[in-house]
Amino acid sequence: MTSKALDNFLNENIAGLKDQGLYNEIDPVQGANGPVIQLNGKDLINLSSNNYLGLATDESLKEVAKEAVDSHGVGAGAVRTINGTLDLHIELEKKLAAFKGTEAAISYQSGFNCNMAAISAVMDKNDAILSDELNHASIIDGCRLSKAKIIRYNHSDMKDLREKAKEATESGRYNKVMVITDGVFSMDGDVALLPEIVEIAEEFDLITYVDDAHGSGVLGKGAGTVKHFGLEDKVDMQMGTLSKAIGVIGGYVAGKANLIDWLKVRSRPFLFSTAVSPADAAASTKAVDMLMESTELNERLWENGNYLKEGLKKLGFDIGNSETPITPCIIGDEKDAQKFSKRLYEEGVYAKSIVFPTVPKGTGRVRNMPTAAHTKEMLDEAIAAYGKVGREMGLI
Ligand code: PMP
Repeated sequence: MTSKALDNFLNENIAGLKDQGLYNEIDPVQGANGPVIQLNGKDLINLSSNNYLGLATDESLKEVAKEAVDSHGVGAGAVRTINGTLDLHIELEKKLAAFKGTEAAISYQSGFNCNMAAISAVMDKNDAILSDELNHASIIDGCRLSKAKIIRYNHSDMKDLREKAKEATESGRYNKVMVITDGVFSMDGDVALLPEIVEIAEEFDLITYVDDAHGSGVLGKGAGTVKHFGLEDKVDMQMGTLSKAIGVIGGYVAGKANLIDWLKVRSRPFLFSTAVSPADAAASTKAVDMLMESTELNERLWENGNYLKEGLKKLGFDIGNSETPITPCIIGDEKDAQKFSKRLYEEGVYAKSIVFPTVPKGTGRVRNMPTAAHTKEMLDEAIAAYGKVGREMGLI
């Protein structure tokens, strides 16, 4: 017999979420996650992927992935420290270090587990971590796993960060103190104040960690937030994901050689979990090559982002203060945001609503992620749908 306690727990909680409208039903995408997707047999303009440069469906990436399957098979075969380190992983890591302007890099199976792995390998219970209150869930979990004291500072509030850094370092309670931040915050598209953060870090000898999941491929002509500010030699740990602009799967940390050496012997997902497949590694390497060779896709991404922003602003929508192509359309009321997204769906546009608790109460929104792969015609169609639904709901 299976557990009654588990059944009760699950049934009660799932029903509770459904009552509150917080239970997420997932519709599978039928086919590729490109600028147009098919859901339930319906074609929709896709404004909800993180496929910033359109590389998830790029022909040359598909080609190298197929070649890697032919030459290396479909799986890495073992964890990295036994014999699952393939030449393809080493090639990828060398390329990532060059891309980020660091001595070395280490790759992981995902961005999420990269944060879990790297934070907890470097910090422990005798340390403290200053963490922006809007940092991603994987940073929060990585910090928790490390058992370090977590000190949250108000979002991008440099006065608060400085005071907390001073207090933590002068207390004498901690061996090491880290400051950790997203490079780009994905709900609003704002950019971390890295020059100020680095200055505070220098003053108090903080370890600096930047999660650039949404900055890589986007800012710094594609090289990321750290490069955008010219701070490559001032950030200790540049984390990134291979699943967004790079279009594949995986995560990485780039930094000094001694940091990467340490992560190779101490970060648990590297030691105890098999690495990404040959196809993933080869496709990621190709994507990084493309980003280093040309800024064309990056420029198209920004053009499309600006075009969509202009279009929505002209209609009278509140698009917040995004500094990147991420384009939130702030509706306010949670139910209205959900209804708005549903109506856009009916009009042929897939743009997910994001509501409390992911964003503060009363700032329910539909978040748009334009990519380099969208055409102007697709964006025009999406803008027209926004106009129609906005007028219908009395929002503009
Ligand atoms: N960090 C940030 C800031 C993210 O937005 C995400 C993905 N949502 C991750 C890490 C995790 O990346 P991945 O999807 O590659 O696991």
